[in-house]
Amino acid sequence: MKLITNKVYGAEDILPADSYKWQFVEDIMRGQAQSYGFREIRTPVFEHTVLFDRSVGDTTDIVQKEMYTFTTKGGDTISLKPEGTAGAARAMLEHGIYNEGYPVKVYYLTGCYRYEKKNFGRQREFHQFGMEVYGAASAYADAEVICAANSIFDRLGVRDISLEINSIGCPECRAKYYEALREYFSNRKDELCETCHSRLERNPMRILDCKEQGCAEIAKDAPKVLDYICEECSKHFDDVKKCLDAVGISYKVNPTIVRGLDYYTRTVFEFVAPELGTVCGGGRYDGLIEELGGQHTPSLGFGMGMERLLILLEKQGIELERPPVCDLYIAGISEAARVKAFELTEGVRNSSLIAECDIVGRKLKPQMKYADKIDAKFSMVLGDDDLQANKAKIKNMASGTTREVPLDEGFYDAFFNIYVNGENDIYLQKLGIEGED
Ligand code: ATP
Ligand code: MG
Repeated sequence: MKLITNKVYGAEDILPADSYKWQFVEDIMRGQAQSYGFREIRTPVFEHTVLFDRSVGDTTDIVQKEMYTFTTKGGDTISLKPEGTAGAARAMLEHGIYNEGYPVKVYYLTGCYRYEKKNFGRQREFHQFGMEVYGAASAYADAEVICAANSIFDRLGVRDISLEINSIGCPECRAKYYEALREYFSNRKDELCETCHSRLERNPMRILDCKEQGCAEIAKDAPKVLDYICEECSKHFDDVKKCLDAVGISYKVNPTIVRGLDYYTRTVFEFVAPELGTVCGGGRYDGLIEELGGQHTPSLGFGMGMERLLILLEKQGIELERPPVCDLYIAGISEAARVKAFELTEGVRNSSLIAECDIVGRKLKPQMKYADKIDAKFSMVLGDDDLQANKAKIKNMASGTTREVPLDEGFYDAFFNIYVNGENDIYLQKLGIEGED
């Protein structure tokens, strides 16, 4: 087969055989978000580029190298969202959601776009689940957000994922820390990559997040931010740890985490899986809302990579609930029987059960083969004789037992009864006890 084109490099299709896994995970995320009092926000896939320049930060890899930016026919410069926080914050401000009172708590599920080299767990279109809290300065908020992320891993039964936390202080601590970093890296400037040369001036902390081997090596011995944070930031960090201790969430303080986005202040955290890297990253961004033109609003959040999470579940052999299979397949032999099958199938669906009939135009045998393939729990074959007699037999595909049903209005109640008993039959059969005919 020669197709005119294939999917774009770095993009992936989520196929019908796998989409149930996404749905299952997304349902858990929505459920957990709800229990923590978060409501969903959906923002456009593109924004004016300036939003990301100002929020994610124009010294970051994301903005400098990875953003899909283009000029529209109308002359606007817009970008596909590389992450979910900026759009959510913009929408919160634009619609004055803060007027409903603080804290504002939102979650999102979104596609993200970054022009990156494709790799294991790295794509150009990927998906994030994220949670954001606006207007919450206390350490309880940091702990709540970390607990919420943790609860998703817990619910999914993920093992061996470690929570690493750090504090990168406030702008005041940052000034002192930048000075120390500049001094350290200036002495080894020749060994840094080109990009890090400009980072040295504009944002030396970014060097700590550089993916170049040489820079990473030098960064290992760089001054640690925790040695430079002020008393208040230090107290805030201690309070976060206290809350995590109170609920028994274990963590490791990792003084090298700085995160890849400019807007973070104070607490930053990552959930890291062995061999896969960071599955979830987040932290506090007290300066972001002001940066976007709003009032000073202490805020925080995290983004969780869906693809990496699904890889992790697969690697750990975690079974995700499969979607329910077909409850009833109705085969039709003659033309008149096919019409009846179609009518009854539609009726069964209206009572919220899953039903199918032939829409391909198959003969009886391949229809039954199909019923097997889709794992139908019950089947019924209709021929002219059955229509004449106005009754037919429903077969329990697992036990082989059959039961008679009327084909008039009584059909649906009769099937429902059989369906409920059939669940019983299957259960009894599993226990080694035969169901009755
Ligand atoms: P990394 O250091 O791995 O590039 P990051 O710091 O750029 O990650 P964030 O911007 O914090 O990542 O995004 C949060 C999460 O989104 C990551 O922890 C990861 O799970 C996921 N993620 C980020 N970039 C990609 C990508 N290109 N493909 C798939 N998932 C990604
Ligand atoms: Mg990255």
